[in-house]
Amino acid sequence: MNKTPIDALIIGAGPCGIFQAFQLGLQGIQCHIIESRESAGGQCNELYADKPIYDIPGVPHILAGDLANQLLTQLKPFNTQFHFNTTITDVKPRDDSTFTLHTDNSTTYHGRHVIVASGAGAFTPVKLRLDNVAKLEQKQLFYTSVEASQCAEKQVIITGDTPAAIEEVIKHHSDAKKIIFIHRKRRLPDVPNLVGQLHQLEQQGVVEIIHGKITEALVVDNRLTGLRVIDNEKQTNTIEADILIARLGNSPKMQDYTAWGVQTTRRHIDVGAAAFESSVPGLYAIGDINQYAGKRKLILCGFHEATLVAFAIAAKLNPQSPIHTQYTTTSTQLLKRLGKIPDTTS
Ligand SMILES: Cc1cc2nc3c(=O)[nH]c(=O)nc-3n(C[C@H](O)[C@H](O)[C@H](O)COP(=O)(O)OP(=O)(O)OC[C@H]3O[C@@H](n4cnc5c(N)ncnc54)[C@H](O)[C@@H]3O)c2cc1C
Repeated sequence: MNKTPIDALIIGAGPCGIFQAFQLGLQGIQCHIIESRESAGGQCNELYADKPIYDIPGVPHILAGDLANQLLTQLKPFNTQFHFNTTITDVKPRDDSTFTLHTDNSTTYHGRHVIVASGAGAFTPVKLRLDNVAKLEQKQLFYTSVEASQCAEKQVIITGDTPAAIEEVIKHHSDAKKIIFIHRKRRLPDVPNLVGQLHQLEQQGVVEIIHGKITEALVVDNRLTGLRVIDNEKQTNTIEADILIARLGNSPKMQDYTAWGVQTTRRHIDVGAAAFESSVPGLYAIGDINQYAGKRKLILCGFHEATLVAFAIAAKLNPQSPIHTQYTTTSTQLLKRLGKIPDTTS
């Protein structure tokens, strides 16, 4: 755990969590973002990356995945630290009015303020419904992207109907002894660039593609040795396997936030509309996860909420001085923080 508490800890790197970090950056407040997925973007990347959004102010249309990327680009001046593949399981207020955040991987974080931007819930990998495989996880079976060294000279089986599955095939084609890609649907995902590269690798004999599904994992002495696969022509084959990478997508899991001590309504965190603070002082909620009179689950509403939370936290951290509204166009202080003009004081 970090000894000195971080000024603000954001739970969730969806569009609202990312923009929250940007607004905190404008206020000169240090923050970290903790995210269950292996990358940022929340629902925009996980559920509809290739669909256009038409109601972002001043942006006539933008693909959801591109919006997430633009938000990350906008955040760059602040060098925000992200912690991926980490789910916050509990938030505990401490006697000194700071918070300890517990995670699913035994790391803990210590912060002065917490902003829950957890949206539709923690996106966690969909797992294979096969007997005997739980004990292979993180040894021979992986649900997230794997380091090249883990596949070196191995027979690697990659399965999933997602673009991430094809990305994984492309990533490992030069380190694995052989890659077999098992794809359940007859049609590959609509990502022409990735599919083009996949077919090229198939033609070069580097990758074999099977349209079918895994029906059984063959495990001997707690080690995966092979897989039984039924193809779309109903032929069953046994294939050798050293490493199995399943990229089946992620599904959101809503937590019980009452266990964190906050008041909720229908599993959403109750907040006031002035500063989006929950019933626990110092713990805020923005975006799809909060609830107040008139709440709408829209990205632009989350952006507004993030802005006011940043002002509220700035006011708490600087009780002696009023927090003025400043414009990014004209404020020397903000332009320095954004790196647009040199900061000669630091
Ligand atoms: C198909 C579709 C189309 C949409 N179109 C539009 C549109 O056109 N315009 C619009 O305004 N809105 C649209 N929306 C809604 C919009 O996507 C959401 O309002 C927005 O994503 C909410 O952002 P968020 O940051 O609050 O949450 P999310 O995007 O849900 O992100 C939350 C993040 O927090 C992470 N997380 C959750 N719990 C934890 C935890 N305990 N620990 C660590 N990480 C955690 C999750 O993994 C996730 O990445 C659409 C939604 C869908 C599904």
